[in-house]
Amino acid sequence: MEIKDILIAHNFRYNKALGQNFITDKNLLSAIVGDAGIEKKDTVVEIGAGAGSLTMALSKVCKKVIAFEVDYNLKPILSQTLQGLDNVELVFADVLKLADEQIKDIVKGPFKVVANLPYYITTPLIMRFFESSLDIKSLTLMMQKEVAQRLVAKKNTQSYGAITAVIALQANAYITRNIPKQLFFPKPNVDSALVHIDIVGDKYNCKDINFVKKVIKSAFMWRRKTLANNLIATFSLSRKDSQALLENLGFEANIRGEKLSPEEFCKLAFQLKKVLKESENK
Ligand code: SAM
Repeated sequence: MEIKDILIAHNFRYNKALGQNFITDKNLLSAIVGDAGIEKKDTVVEIGAGAGSLTMALSKVCKKVIAFEVDYNLKPILSQTLQGLDNVELVFADVLKLADEQIKDIVKGPFKVVANLPYYITTPLIMRFFESSLDIKSLTLMMQKEVAQRLVAKKNTQSYGAITAVIALQANAYITRNIPKQLFFPKPNVDSALVHIDIVGDKYNCKDINFVKKVIKSAFMWRRKTLANNLIATFSLSRKDSQALLENLGFEANIRGEKLSPEEFCKLAFQLKKVLKESENK
């Protein structure tokens, strides 16, 4: 029985609030699995199993799929679609509410994330994972096209934001394909894109990555404000110290955050830490 027929047979009512736009197109499912670069030795975490179409495609090519789903109404459908797949573990939980330790207990070891995400959790989920201690190798995520463009944006463009720079500190992100809305059921209002994020580690040798992330978040906190003003607000710096810090790094005193590359944020964070230490010792 096809997945669409199973959903009809169960009289399933799609929950818009949970971003339920399913994929049943077999070519698209194999394209996602291919772009994710999944190998036989991999453990894959899927966020949002839905009716299980992507779960099934993943289970054929990897060691284990752990699929999280928040909607209990999908339980009888998933029991049918995933029946007999002994390398699939279904976990009914809101993945955003689980602590790192809970996820580690379930997943045990390194993993790759593959998901056709509910659009409203894309940014919180990526931020959550990039701030976690989880051993994630890569993320291959279906998302709204505009958000995808944000993830791969270059500095000094409108799309460039905190999430772009945070990802770029430790990973390389690519849009692997654009997907028209017709390939989802029910059809969403927006077009989508598939993004592959390959986590490669501390690319710019930032060392204290968490501090650099704090600096990046501060820089984009109020986009219209200058970087110096944002740093003053977040780190209780004096105006003199904030402007001197930027000028010593070769930036104009009134530069905005979006003009800095991820690598430049690293340098800024390194110097800022020194300034904060000095003012502590005064
Ligand atoms: N993977 C399926 C597919 O491609 O057809 C379903 C994708 S659908 C866009 C997103 C799924 O994520 C829905 O089934 C929804 O119920 C589930 N979901 C929404 N929020 C979630 C959360 N916080 N944690 C886990 N699953 C969630």
